[in-house]
Amino acid sequence: MIRFSASKTHPADPSKKSALSSGSLALYFFCSASALGAIGSTTATAQPVAFTDARIIDGTGAEPIYPGTLVINNGRIVAAGAADQVTIPADARLLSLGGHTLMPGLVNAHGHAGGVRGLESGHYGEENLLRQLSLYADYGVTSVVSLGDDEAEGFRLRDSQNTPSLNRARLFVAGPVLNPASAEQAVALVDQTAALNPDFIKIRVDDNLGRTPKMAPEIYRAVSERADFHDIPLAVHTFYQQDTKDLLRAGADYVAHSVRDSHVDDEFVGLMRARDICYTPTLTREVSTYIYESEPAFFSDPFFTAGVESEILDTLREPERQQRMAQNSAAQQYKAALPVAMTNLKLLADAGVRIAMGTDSGPAARFQGYFEHLEMWMMQDAGLTPMQIIQSATGDAAACMNLNDTGTLEVGKWADLLVLSMDPLQDIRNTRSIEQVWIAGNQLPRPRF
Ligand SMILES: [Zn+2]
Repeated sequence: MIRFSASKTHPADPSKKSALSSGSLALYFFCSASALGAIGSTTATAQPVAFTDARIIDGTGAEPIYPGTLVINNGRIVAAGAADQVTIPADARLLSLGGHTLMPGLVNAHGHAGGVRGLESGHYGEENLLRQLSLYADYGVTSVVSLGDDEAEGFRLRDSQNTPSLNRARLFVAGPVLNPASAEQAVALVDQTAALNPDFIKIRVDDNLGRTPKMAPEIYRAVSERADFHDIPLAVHTFYQQDTKDLLRAGADYVAHSVRDSHVDDEFVGLMRARDICYTPTLTREVSTYIYESEPAFFSDPFFTAGVESEILDTLREPERQQRMAQNSAAQQYKAALPVAMTNLKLLADAGVRIAMGTDSGPAARFQGYFEHLEMWMMQDAGLTPMQIIQSATGDAAACMNLNDTGTLEVGKWADLLVLSMDPLQDIRNTRSIEQVWIAGNQLPRPRF
């Protein structure tokens, strides 16, 4: 199934800085952890808002516009462009940005929501979903595609979010991760899941580094065929290049993790390009598998600690726990796989494969909100330019995930916006300088230092 628009190639301009060694101070951070559950918003009114004196990065990859004007009304963008090209409605509320950057809200193409509280899973429910979607939103992640373990409450939130009163991240869902034992069962499970109307069907084709059985090809082929029958795109969790190639031949529509066992070859690139398949690196997922063997540098980053309960950090600092991770052979194998993943990201971006920023955040110790920023910083370490990264985290991520109503600052889209005080095109680490988050034209309240 081919539902993605034409790919764009990206120029390369590697940066040498390292995200993980970055110890720079956050200039801005927001709510205390205890306030994160209680996000309110100003209600959208009929009055238009005009952002003026903005440096507009629209998420399409186009050069920034300065000075730019963007007008929103009733939750949507109604005008955007160079200041001398946009007519501001007479009744608009004017908001001068003083040359600061206006860009689309971030789209996490691979997250999870609703299941984990603290470091413990099994807490799925609406209250937990809303708390996490507010946390994502606080960090400027205005859309999250949850690729699996979604239950009825998640579907309900997905179905009720097309409103100008929205004040949390948008949620898109896949339902359960399917793990059929036979081709017949594959058909039955896809049918059951399709009845829920998911945005994706999700499977895992992985042996956890040789430790568990892997889904057989005839089973994933049956899943793919049946997903096609229902016209639902198939998202695949993979690890090995050979499996991913075979999944692409079987009709998979989206590669939700990096190839991590080997460097991607021309055949792989050809299979991705032939159907313009999108690829999500989830570099921070690899980081999460080993980084807590000692205390990560980001534990002292105020931009991180503003969004996390300190008890979680206390637990992750426990020496026995750290030692267990340091001695875990899988953790050390994933650690070794990270440089392969980073090289593959650069190879694929250079080859014109569309990259959709995604983290696999949501499971324990994969921190929603902060990890999307860390992911972008690591994408810069991998050699992508800030503009490539912004596009992959906004317009391309949205297009890859079939989110047609968000992701760029184009007329008609939801007004899901960020204002940054520092220029992310100078250094993608400036994404930490979030001053304002708007979702469907509602500005989130942001206590700030
Ligand atoms: Zn995942």
